[in-house]
Amino acid sequence: MNHKIPFVDLNLQHQPIQNQLQQAIQAVLSQGDFILGKALSDFEAAFAAASGTKYGIGVASGTDAIALGLQACNIGAGDQVILPANTFVATLIGVLRAGAEPVLVDCDPQTALIDLEAAAKAITPQTKAIIPVHLYGQMVSPQKLLDLADTYKLLIFEDAAQAHLAEREGYRAGSVGIAAAFSFYPSKNLGAFGDGGMLLTRDSDVAQKMKRLRNYGASQKYFHVELGTNSRLDTLQAAVLLEKLPHLRQWNRDRLTIAQYYDAELAPLASAGIISMQNHSSNGHVYHLYVLKVEDSCLLERQQIQDKLTAVGIQTGIHYPIPCHLQPAFTDLGYKQGDFPQAEKLANQILSLPMYPGLNRNQIKEVVAAITSSLGSEPQKLLCI
Ligand SMILES: *Cc1c(COP(=O)(O)O)cnc(C)c1O
Repeated sequence: MNHKIPFVDLNLQHQPIQNQLQQAIQAVLSQGDFILGKALSDFEAAFAAASGTKYGIGVASGTDAIALGLQACNIGAGDQVILPANTFVATLIGVLRAGAEPVLVDCDPQTALIDLEAAAKAITPQTKAIIPVHLYGQMVSPQKLLDLADTYKLLIFEDAAQAHLAEREGYRAGSVGIAAAFSFYPSKNLGAFGDGGMLLTRDSDVAQKMKRLRNYGASQKYFHVELGTNSRLDTLQAAVLLEKLPHLRQWNRDRLTIAQYYDAELAPLASAGIISMQNHSSNGHVYHLYVLKVEDSCLLERQQIQDKLTAVGIQTGIHYPIPCHLQPAFTDLGYKQGDFPQAEKLANQILSLPMYPGLNRNQIKEVVAAITSSLGSEPQKLLCI
């Protein structure tokens, strides 16, 4: 289906720098260093520096950055790892692949970020690490995380797949914990022309181990010291990402501006039960997604609003419709409906609006006007509580 206002539009991002991107790709073709080539090490250094940390190790996906990254931090069998129930399944998959025991906790309904009080209650003597997921582009409070980690002697492993260059309380995503996983899936704030991921760390032991794990466990060519795999970020993808990186700050600023327009335009609908997710990190939120809640007090259900937007050519998304603990793949973990009431409620209420650099003010007005008219009336007349 062709949408008048799509959920994301990557062409707007790529067209202005198309020549540079093509030159970067051509350079790799000429060089022929497709695996672990120069553009990869250049991009690893550049992205680590931009994120305020030391080492970057490029891998095949964000999922591998989590799974191998946890292993590189020596988190595995016998260890419990705390993570939010309302994340993309890849966070949970990564923990399970590392051989650790996942312990899910609920979230804060105002931000959808992990509830750190619930996390504190879930800590046992086996708890080795906590994975804050910087969901939608907003960091989990670094100060509170560091306090928690300090009190209970936990490692912090950030899932920063949605938070490239996000900031909060003077910290940048990827620089808070022992290590952080990023994804360069095409629609992320910094996206490749295919799959890609990276682990960032300031710990040289973690970096060295990660380099081995992504390269068959080899410490040098044909000398294998542990069970690794083949998971490298292609030099071609790194060349594209290296070319895009200098634009990321501006793209993130554009996202913030768009979010601020949405906030202002949507404010009158609060009384009708349309509530935007809260930003607790002022200008440091990088708005990978702009998410609102259709509260139970609203005249319409989330599905009805989404259908009406689709009907007028506005594409939306739901991130995510089923919390991890209710996914059929993970019934073995023993969770059930009702275990994480906030995450379950959010899954039914959230709606992600179009969000991408280049989305203009008129389009934003059009999206909000379509929501308003889906409610069937002027917002002031919709005091439906
Ligand atoms: C995208 C994403 C991942 C996984 O990244 P891939 O590159 O798709 O494997 C992990 N965690 C979160 C929160 C994500 O949004």
